[in-house]
Amino acid sequence: MIHSWNNVIFHIDMDSFFASVESSKRPELKGLPLVIGSDPKSGSGRGVVSTCSYEARRFGIHSAMPISKAYRLCPDAVFLPVNSKLYKEVSDRIMRILRSYADRFEQVSIDEAYLDMSSKVCDHTTATKFATQIKNKVVETEGITCSVGVAPGKTVAKIASDHDKPNGLTIVQPTEVKQFLAPLPVAKIPGIGKKTEQILKQMQIKDIGELADADIQILMNKFGKHAISMKSIANGIDVRELKDKTEVKSISKEDTFDFDTNDVDKIDSVLMSLCEDVHRTMLRKQFLFRTVTIKVRFKDFTTYTRASTLPFTTNDLETIKKCSRDLMQEFIDKDEFRLIGVGITKLEKIDRKQTLITDFI
Ligand SMILES: [Mg+2]
Repeated sequence: MIHSWNNVIFHIDMDSFFASVESSKRPELKGLPLVIGSDPKSGSGRGVVSTCSYEARRFGIHSAMPISKAYRLCPDAVFLPVNSKLYKEVSDRIMRILRSYADRFEQVSIDEAYLDMSSKVCDHTTATKFATQIKNKVVETEGITCSVGVAPGKTVAKIASDHDKPNGLTIVQPTEVKQFLAPLPVAKIPGIGKKTEQILKQMQIKDIGELADADIQILMNKFGKHAISMKSIANGIDVRELKDKTEVKSISKEDTFDFDTNDVDKIDSVLMSLCEDVHRTMLRKQFLFRTVTIKVRFKDFTTYTRASTLPFTTNDLETIKKCSRDLMQEFIDKDEFRLIGVGITKLEKIDRKQTLITDFI
């Protein structure tokens, strides 16, 4: 097994997010038991607790608990309604900060995200450095703390961020993944709920170490194909990719001619310079592409787009130029051009592994 810092994932989770946002806006609430949720109506409210501060947790209050029960446990707590608009605004600002550190980024919920930090972190020291920087930056800008888990994969990073809440930092080194997981209860694995936990318990499997060593055939008899991913994760094997929902989908440039024109040389020279612009942006953002598109607008504003998809990904400028020239052919001499554009789509982020492979060729 490879025990190097090739893949480094940070899981970042805000601490009691809604409660933290409220008390950062109203410092007089700091240190008080704070319950965000529906109106407790002096104990007769019928809603649930959305989030509560760590001070409220000391009274036994937790998320999803009936608000009436929370009121009985601590009638003196400060009860506040959910201010979704405010939390979303704060979340957006925090996510922008987190994203700026990451090679790749996946927001999981309003207060949680995965950051691929593989190109920046190469050992325990750099992991600590970046995690601390991120934590400090969030405190400085929004006045709220977060917990960070660092691991070679998403699942272990998520388990790690939960390991030392609030304001925690848990770094699981590549060589330590199995040891870190082994003593933890199986329910720490996301996806293992009460029911699965119960069945595992009947099989004498209580901690993740026991799950890691369990017979796969016996597990499959009980859980079907889920057994495979359960056992892999218990063994610290986790290859799920980050899903960047706001990832760049295309890069394009266009140019409107000063005067409508059907001058072939002029059109071609503008087309080539657009190709170069697109190519430059693509290199800077570290993408490969598979599809080249062009856009043509004639003087009467009729607009056409054409695309050409390659059987492979590349970042080659000549390929962009050739594809756009080929696609442009059918429009030459048709009418006077007002605007042309060039774009690339089906983008793929260059990851370090790919770069390494090319390095050896
Ligand atoms: Mg949270």
